[in-house]
Amino acid sequence: MALPNYQEIVALIKKGATIEAQEKIMELREAALEYQNENLALKNAVKELKEALALRDSLEWQKPYYVRKQNPEDKFCQCCYDADGRAIRLQELERGYWRCVQCKNDYMDGNYKDPSTDFEASGRNPITGY
Ligand SMILES: [Zn+2]
Repeated sequence: MALPNYQEIVALIKKGATIEAQEKIMELREAALEYQNENLALKNAVKELKEALALRDSLEWQKPYYVRKQNPEDKFCQCCYDADGRAIRLQELERGYWRCVQCKNDYMDGNYKDPSTDFEASGRNPITGY
């Protein structure tokens, strides 16, 4: 939207063309409102980008999940973060076995022992599997 020229409005008033001047002032007010709305939208976009950057800076990739740099015990879903930029905290269902309650993906880290091959914990024979 082109802004009405202020000098043009002054000139209209000086020559007594108040109706035209009022129309120009109304255009100016509409333009100001439009710019206010655009400014608000831009401020919100900047805020969202700053938050996304702060989140990105706070996370670190530690296969198979993201962890918070300040506290690596906070683990986040790789799938949700990479797809939507959302940091969804993982729930540890059993030692080393993590689930995202949002996308239902499961992650196993180095602490996980597969019960079917964890013969020490199961007391089963590693050769026969029974
Ligand atoms: Zn997820």
